Amino acid sequence: MRLHEYEAEEIFSKYGINIPQGGLAKTPQEAKQVAMNIGVPVVIKSQVLVGGRGKAGGIRIVEDLNEIEIVADEVLKTEIKGYKPEGVLVLEKVEIKKEIYLGITIDRTSGIPIIMICSEGGVEIEKVAHNNPEKIFKFPVINPLQNIYAYQLISAVKKIGLTGKTLIETVNIIAKLYKVFKKYDGLIAEINPLVITEDERVLCVDAVLQVDDSALFRHPELNKRKLDAMSERDKRLMKKGATFVKLDGNIGLICSGAGLAMATMDMINDYPSLSTANFLETGGGITSELMVDCMELVLEQPGLKAVFVNLYGGINPIHEGAKGIAKIIKERKLTISMVAKALGNRQEETWETLEGVGVHVIKESETQKAVKFLAELLGG
Ligand code: GDP
Ligand code: MN
Repeated sequence: MRLHEYEAEEIFSKYGINIPQGGLAKTPQEAKQVAMNIGVPVVIKSQVLVGGRGKAGGIRIVEDLNEIEIVADEVLKTEIKGYKPEGVLVLEKVEIKKEIYLGITIDRTSGIPIIMICSEGGVEIEKVAHNNPEKIFKFPVINPLQNIYAYQLISAVKKIGLTGKTLIETVNIIAKLYKVFKKYDGLIAEINPLVITEDERVLCVDAVLQVDDSALFRHPELNKRKLDAMSERDKRLMKKGATFVKLDGNIGLICSGAGLAMATMDMINDYPSLSTANFLETGGGITSELMVDCMELVLEQPGLKAVFVNLYGGINPIHEGAKGIAKIIKERKLTISMVAKALGNRQEETWETLEGVGVHVIKESETQKAVKFLAELLGG
């Protein structure tokens, strides 16, 4: 679960990390009120759960108090990468001398937290990571259960060229950020940019905190917020153990089994004309209702050209799943192309149900053949 910048900043601030003054506004009038309290110039920041806002027009500097409402209105109305902002943060504009990247995440290879720091932070950090990965210094947190102490980091942080007061302040901020990361079961805690100001202060100018969903039971207030934001359908799917990850391709995908879904995704993405719009794994308890929910969720995605279903029925009753697919196709009079490969227990019954509503059923055992059929069907 990713938190909004304003929520992450509130948490970082509680742990002693300095953030710019200001506050959240949901309307242009509120934005003006905040700006009047802190004084211009201010930065107006779109509160969306994606990065790259700076490049997408979601970060605006306003010098004139009379322009706050206009700019806030624009930012509030602008979608960033398909997401509507939940509000805007109105913050004092910081005079930036240097932007540093600071991040903590879990290293997938070693399975332990890793701290990353780079002297070239800011909106181009992806480019730096790609072109000059050696500029990003990484240090593993050898004992993840212990806190980090400033002295352990000084020599490492010197490597990015900091000295004196800013070095000490940065090291302290890393130690504090690690406390947040640990306390909140973080997957990512990131400050980009961590700013050194003209007057040598070190400030957190952007805050990202992503909490491990599997640990949400330890954070009841966050868990409640997550559940409150979910639809009844998505709650049903979660309870049934289905997993959904939104991507941005053109083929909706429903698979019974995570490994099957991953393999199917690879095969689909091998075709230049095809790309998966999502990952969806049904879990082991397929029912007709579950499949209706899965179909609804997949069909919500924009730009779909087809839905591809890959089911394997061992103990999973795929014939029940087929009934759900047939039901939603009939009820919604769906015309989108559908290709299904379904094998296993009661497969003949499953095929009949699906073919009865116009789904192309591939009866081969190789998924490649079904994907090839899909590509040809769509003319790719
Ligand atoms: P992101 O693009 O979503 O990561 O949004 P950020 O909050 O990181 O802002 C993007 C960029 O806007 C930063 O890297 C800064 O260069 C600039 N920016 C943000 N806040 C301020 C500020 O208070 N003062 C100045 N001068 N620039 C800022
Ligand atoms: Mn940023």
